[in-house]
This record gives sequence, structure tokens and C-alpha cells, in this order.
Amino acid sequence: MTAPAPDPGGPHGHGKGGEPRDGVRRFARIWSRAVYTATATSLTRAEFEELMETLAARLAAALRARPFDTAPGRAVGEALVAAHGTTPETLPHILSVVDAYLPLYCSDPAELPADEARTRSTRLQHAIAAGFAAALQERTRGEQEAVSRAALTAQQEVARALHESETRFRAVFRDAALGIALADMSGRVLEVNDALARMFGGSEHHVRSRSILEWTHPEDSPDLRRMQRELTRGEREHFQVEKSFGRTDGTVLWTNLTVSLLRDASGEPRYLLAMVEDVSERRLLNLRLRYQATHDALTDLPNRSLFFERLEQALSRAGEGTRVGLCYLDIDGFKAVNDSLGHAVGDQLLIAVAERLQTCASGPGQMLARIGGDEFVALVIDPPARRTVTDLAERALEALSSPVEVGGRELMVRASVGVVEGPARHLSSAEMLRSADITMYRAKAEGGNRYAVADPDSDARAISRHHLTHHLPAALKGAEFFIEYQPLVKMEDGSLEGAEALVRWCHPRHGVLGPDRFIPLAEHTGLIVPLGRWVLQEAVRQACQWQVRGIGGAHPLKVNVNLSPRQLHHPELVEDTVAVLEEAGLPPSSLCLEVTETAMIRADENELRPLRELAELGVGIALDDFGTGYSNLANLRRLPASTLKLDRSFTLGLQRAPADPVDLKIVESIVSLAHTLELSVTVEGVETSTQADQLRALGCDSAQGWFYARPGPPERLPEAV
Ligand code: C2E
Ligand code: CA
Ligand code: CA
Repeated sequence: MTAPAPDPGGPHGHGKGGEPRDGVRRFARIWSRAVYTATATSLTRAEFEELMETLAARLAAALRARPFDTAPGRAVGEALVAAHGTTPETLPHILSVVDAYLPLYCSDPAELPADEARTRSTRLQHAIAAGFAAALQERTRGEQEAVSRAALTAQQEVARALHESETRFRAVFRDAALGIALADMSGRVLEVNDALARMFGGSEHHVRSRSILEWTHPEDSPDLRRMQRELTRGEREHFQVEKSFGRTDGTVLWTNLTVSLLRDASGEPRYLLAMVEDVSERRLLNLRLRYQATHDALTDLPNRSLFFERLEQALSRAGEGTRVGLCYLDIDGFKAVNDSLGHAVGDQLLIAVAERLQTCASGPGQMLARIGGDEFVALVIDPPARRTVTDLAERALEALSSPVEVGGRELMVRASVGVVEGPARHLSSAEMLRSADITMYRAKAEGGNRYAVADPDSDARAISRHHLTHHLPAALKGAEFFIEYQPLVKMEDGSLEGAEALVRWCHPRHGVLGPDRFIPLAEHTGLIVPLGRWVLQEAVRQACQWQVRGIGGAHPLKVNVNLSPRQLHHPELVEDTVAVLEEAGLPPSSLCLEVTETAMIRADENELRPLRELAELGVGIALDDFGTGYSNLANLRRLPASTLKLDRSFTLGLQRAPADPVDLKIVESIVSLAHTLELSVTVEGVETSTQADQLRALGCDSAQGWFYARPGPPERLPEAV
């Protein structure tokens, strides 16, 4: 059905200038109009509207109440049935108006977020339906009693007041909304009313032609046969079951069936009285409500609450030795897609991802759910081996590896997966999910597009990581960060060329923390942008001071500053850097920005443009940790780099004398390639004089490492070399 158009007054009745009561009244009016025509109530329109306004006020109060409680919804459902003439067919009308207008008119988004208002409205609808169903059943029971009483009286009083009681029986029989059949003790149908014939598809003959004891359906419970037997033997007075019937046209009728025994004056069982209430509509509605409450509207996947229900069920039913597994998947960089391409594209992407993931988790005992914005979980009940769960994670990543077409463009989707697998007996659902979540973040911190498997040690580390992440913003405000400088030395003559700025965090509880402990977290949360800007400002200011004081002699000292991938994507990178240099008065050529090889080769032409602009201004660009990224060496030509920083792993093999000839050969060819491309080579991690000698012989230009100096405070730099 379609809901009526809203009043011209517009939504949020108590937003601008209006009182909450206006919104409630408006909702009540629409509601009453939609429902009134569907009922056969004896109330006048005005009386009905008054009733609906009281009920609307109760619902509105329940919607906003803290804590939230669905009990008023149930009471409203019951009250609606009490307003005579409300039939099961009215319920969809009642609920669709609540669905469309209750959150719209009766909640204030400033107090209650729209999502929450919708969830609460759905739960209230559920409660209304439950109250409605219970009250209907109660009313039906009343009706049933009246029918039984009348039938019984009719049978018993034949002699005395035959005509009168017959008429009364006929009247109840004919007009009841219940389907009624009277049968003899063998089940042969004697009488059926119109309501019953209608329920079964219109043909009275069809109903009459079969024994009521044969009104069975393949799904009937074995209890039914037993109860039938007991009834016909006179061992019980009645029974009631919810059961389905197959109609001749193949459709299914769901009913609430009551069969009672009618005895004659001497107490002998004489007749069977069957009363049938059609509950198909109510059942469908309940199924629909249950579906809505347990599925995600966007992707149609099971939602968080169904996921938890299944997981808890699996954990509570688990026997000794039963295991359970989870893959917790989060899309890498989904926020960026949403922010840059809009929510509509984000939504389509989620739908496409859901479809692909669904194909990976469709085995027996497996379920895929969407439990948050871009978070999906696959549940595996009793996997035969841990591999089953890690295989699923692999398949999920594989399924996402080809580009997704959304809104006419192709998007690459990468995701990180946390895998938890263990004996079900020893896990709680909350613990499992937390562990999966933590492990997923570990996969993300390790570069994303991969899965990680939970283990207690890394969980503990992750919890401390979580704690640090939480305190990062305050630390930046509270000046808990400081910078150490590590000299960069010219190999040719051992003179000081500059220094790399390395940030540290002086944590009030944990003491001094190295960048490996917090840079990945700052990168993940985006705090790296302000933190990186602070390091840049600080380091540039420091370099200026060195230059003013004439440290480094004829050649002005340079400063190297590390850039994280996230900073690379920041739209104001060039502007900010130029502003910092100008403010301090440092020439661009005295600054070198270090970007890891991995980040650089991953960048497309758009992302390289800011670096190219900076390089054109004279800022040096170094390829940090070179050799760890497996880049195609031919690709180096397209990068705006001026220096290549050879990773420490290459120099390790040169600590021994004689060095491994293969290591020597590798370093030699990298150096000669770099020189061909007009890149200077800096080696990292030089710890011994043997290494220094060999690297000099191989043609490296500069070096950095403990052999020359450890990172230290800026004052120590002049005497460092
Ligand atoms: P990196 O850029 O490769 O920095 C060099 C690291 O190697 C530093 O570790 C340094 O202390 C260490 N090192 C230097 N010489 C030797 C040596 O002879 N032997 C050994 N074993 N190690 C040596 P640190 O300070 O822990 O920094 C780790 C990483 O943190 C840096 O690696 C860099 O990627 C990142 N980082 C540091 N400061 C910043 C910053 O301000 N911003 C960003 N984005 N990243 C930073
Ligand atoms: Ca570096
Ligand atoms: Ca490095």
C-alpha cells in the first residue's frame, strides 16, 4: 500500500518554532486517516482520531525515551485491537504509517540520530505487531468460547428451546470471522460456514468432501495425530495448534486451529467442532518484520544482530572439540571513496563487494554478514581445520582483486581481514569479535590487502596500540613529541652533509617511544598530517639555525624529513611545505623529503605530481628504504627522486670481511644504475668501518648509521662527526 502524502507543514514538527506536540498531532492525523478506512470500527472518525492521538503520543514518547523500551509499542498494538473492527488486514496499514512518519515527525535529529530513530521505529513496529497478534488471539479465543457455548447449548437444549438456541447457533456460526466446521465423531463434515469455505479457496464442497481428521499437511507435527486420537476417544476436550493447509490452487493457508469435543446431555462425545483462524497475513508480516530486523537494507545480507544471534547460538550449542571461525573484513580506504566520489558510489561499491564476498562464504555452516559501514564478517561454524577459515579469507581477497565497476568507473578494492579460529567452548562472542577486529587492524598496519591470524601476543600488543592511538591527539597538543637528528655523512671525505629528522614520543607512562610504535597509528587515524607538519616545521626551523650558526662549513647543512603515504595524498602538501620554508627562510634545496620506495611506486601520476612540483622548486626527494619494495628498476625513471637511500638489509652482508660476493655485486649494480639515472646513493645502517670502507669503494655517495653517530638531540650534531 502507499502511505498518504505528508501534511504541508513539513517534517520535524518541533524543529523550527513548533512544539513536539505538533509533530505528534500531525503523525496521529495521517495515521488515523490511513487506518480508519481499513477498519470496521463503530467509533466515529473524530472518536477514532482522538484514540489514535493518545496512541501516537505514547509511541512518540517511547521513540525518544532513554532508556529505550518497546513495551509501549506492545500496549499500542493491544489497544488497536480493542478498538473494535480492527482485523489482521489493518496491521500493514498501521505499521506502514509508523514506518514512514513516526521517526520523521516525532524525533529531533539533534537529540536522536536518524539511524537510531529508524532502528527504534522498527523495533517499536515489531512490538506493535506482537501486541496486536496477542490481543487478536485473545479475542479469537473469546469468540471461540462463544461458539462452543452456543453449539453446546444448541445440542443440549434441543428438547427445551430448540428453535431459539438453533437460531442463536446459526447466527454465531454464520457471522463469525472464524472458519467453523462441525463434524461427527468419525470426522465427516456436517456443516461449514462461509468464512471457512472462503479460507480454503471458496468451494464448500471441497471442504465438506474430506474428513476433518484428514486435514493434514506434510509439515504437521506428530503431536497432532496423537491429539486427534485422544480427542476422538474422548480422552481430551480440545486441542489447539498452529498449522498450515494446502489449498487446491497450491497456495498455503496458515491457521490457528482449535478442535473441541461436543458431548451430549449424557456426556457422550457426539460432535467435533473445528474453529479455524486465518493467520497467513500475520505470519507473513511477522516474517517480514523479522527479516527487516535481521537484514541490512543496502546489501540484503544478514546484519549485526543476526550475526551475533548465530554466533552465540553456535557458541552455546558447541560440544567438546567444536571449533568456530571468523573472518572480519574491512575495506581499505573506503572512507576516501565515500568522501571523494560520494555516498551513492560508496553504496554501490558496498553492494558489489557484498555480492562478491557472498560467493566465497556460501558453504555449509558459513554465513556472511554486514556488521558496519564497510565491515563484513564471515562466520564459519565448526570448520574441519583452521585452513578452512584462512582459505576463506584468501578467497575473499581474491574475489575483490579485480576492479569493481561502479557508476561508469573502475575502482580497485583492497581489504584487510582478521581471522580468528578456535575451540568454541572457550570463546565468547564479544571476545571473538574484538580479537578479529584487532587482528584486522594488524593486517591493515602491515600494509592492507592481506589477512592476519589472531594470536594472544599480538592481541595484547594491539590493545596497547589502541591505547596509544587514543592518546595521540592529546600528545600532539601537549607537546609530548620531540625530534632527534641523525647525521648524514659524505663518504668521499667523511664531512657532515646534513641530518635526518626522526620523531620520538615522550609518553608520560611508557617513556620514550620510537616512531615504529606510533607512526603507523598516526597514519591510520590521519593524525600523521598535523604531526608530519609539526615535524617539518620543527626540522626546517632547526636547519635554519644550523645554517645561521655556520655549522657544516662552506656547504649549508641539509635536513631530511620523512613523509608518510597519507601525507603524500594530502591536497595541501605543496602549499604547506612552501609556506614552512618561506616562513623560516630556508632555501628549498636544503630540504630533502624521504618517501619510501613502496609508497612511491604505488603512487600514480596524479599522486606524484605534488612531489614533482616540489622537486622543481629545488626540494630533494629521496627514495627511502630502497630495495624493500621490489620495484621494477626501469620504473625509477618516471619518479621525481634525486636520491636513493639503500635499505639497511643490503649493507648487513657487508659487515663481514670478506663480504659475500653476491651482496657486493648487487650493491654495485644498484649504485651504477642509480648513477646512470643521475640519482645519488645514500646507504643506511652503516655500523662498522668495514662496511663503510666497502661501500665507499662501491661508489656510494653518502652514509648514515651508528658507525658515524646515533640519532641525538640537535645540539649534539656539530660535534657528531
Ligand atoms: P628510516 O627512515 O629508515 O630511519 C632510519 C631508522 O634506522 C631510524 O630508526 C634510525 O634510528 C635507524 N638507524 C640509523 N642508523 C642505524 C644503524 O646503524 N643500525 C641500525 N640498526 N639502525 C639504524 P627510527 O628512528 O626508529 O625510525 C624508524 C622509522 O620511523 C624511520 O625509518 C621512518 O620511516 C619513520 N619515521 C621517523 N620519524 C618520522 C617522521 O617524522 N615522520 C614519518 N612519517 N616517519 C618517521
Ligand atoms: Ca627515512
Ligand atoms: Ca630508511
